[in-house]
Amino acid sequence: MSTFQAPKGTYDLIPPDSAKFLAVREAISAPLRDSGYGYIETPGFENVELFARGVGESTDIVTKEMYTLTTKGGDQLALRPEGTASVLRAALEANLHKAGNLPVKLWYSGSYYRYERPQKGRYRHFSQVGAEAIGTEDPVLDAELIILADQAYRSLGLQQFRILLNSLGDRECRPVYREALQTFLRDLDLDEETRRRIEINPLRVLDDKRADVQKQLTDAPRLRDYLCDACKAYHEEVRALLTAAGVVYEDDEKLVRGLDYYTRTTFEFVHDGLGSQSAVGGGGRYDGLSEMIGGPALPSVGWALGVDRTVLALEAEGVELDLPVTTSVYAVPLGDEARRALFTVVTELRRAGVAADFAFGGRGLKGAMKSANRSGARYTLVAGERDLAEGVVQLKDMESGEQAAVGLADVVAELKTRLG
Ligand code: ATP
Ligand code: MG
Repeated sequence: MSTFQAPKGTYDLIPPDSAKFLAVREAISAPLRDSGYGYIETPGFENVELFARGVGESTDIVTKEMYTLTTKGGDQLALRPEGTASVLRAALEANLHKAGNLPVKLWYSGSYYRYERPQKGRYRHFSQVGAEAIGTEDPVLDAELIILADQAYRSLGLQQFRILLNSLGDRECRPVYREALQTFLRDLDLDEETRRRIEINPLRVLDDKRADVQKQLTDAPRLRDYLCDACKAYHEEVRALLTAAGVVYEDDEKLVRGLDYYTRTTFEFVHDGLGSQSAVGGGGRYDGLSEMIGGPALPSVGWALGVDRTVLALEAEGVELDLPVTTSVYAVPLGDEARRALFTVVTELRRAGVAADFAFGGRGLKGAMKSANRSGARYTLVAGERDLAEGVVQLKDMESGEQAAVGLADVVAELKTRLG
């Protein structure tokens, strides 16, 4: 061990487990790539104001969880706590919405930072794959995104996840509900901070995890009863499209989510094997966000799925991913001449697309064969001076144990055939 450790609330992805993370990112992004979403990458930090305005001054993310810093040049920056505000900022900056091709459909994958109380499934550095469809108000788009996330989780083999669905209304009906809710909440027995929250963002109080708070919320006015006709019709359409696609969801009228920008469709993917950190992903429609960060009206919808929690969900369900083979052939040279000859073979194999590795450092046969075993390679190539004198290498099938001498000049072709 060195003098240093990974900072509190972070962990390193190391082989072999790191392969699961790559596979999860791949599985989540594949349905998006096949559905017209283009890849976008934005900086790991942004002007702090982007998040203050875009995510919301009243959210935990902005008030408590953001890593902020002042640069030597005096700029106020924040490590990105989420992806949507940055992606929308970048799309507006590049005028993607003006290319006459709405919606702008984008996907991303990267690291996010939140100063949280670390626990299993909750870290200070975590990773998400996300998708945003910008500039179009169409229930089909909301449904598309939910269906693609469902498809991604299913392709990974996950089964014990549920989709929670709600509508948060729009700028017509939500203010009316907000007032009704505030009136109700002000009469409850709540602590100072929660009382403040009632004035800034009362919907967030519904999301309070504490049992004594939840107990008082049983008779709270329900957003569903306040939705305007347009919001109701929109929501019904999203629900019908999901049902038609065979996607099972649960109506959850308490689902509000921790970001201020959501309107209408809101959803969360939860996994029942994860304890209290049960949300594996979430998203929704954010019709007002563009204007909140100084852009034109661009109704949009998106989601972000947490890679770390998805890996935990796979482990909780005992799903073994079908990971790509890392090494197919492992070469073990005995002596200097064999080292040069086999390294040439390994290079040729690699150029021919065969995953191959090599016993470096002039190790003895026993130790090198141990490494060959550990590598999981299907075949090993062993060659010593006598083999080379005969122009052959020993090709061993690690599954059957069979071994045969193969001409040095033929071995690449032979392995390509055998590996199909
Ligand atoms: P939670 O309610 O658990 O705090 P959230 O609502 O803050 O989640 P989002 O901002 O919607 O989460 O982020 C989308 C996904 O990113 C979450 O569903 C989760 O899988 C993941 N995520 C969020 N925060 C963390 C974290 N601190 N550590 C690991 N994963 C996280
Ligand atoms: Mg959170």
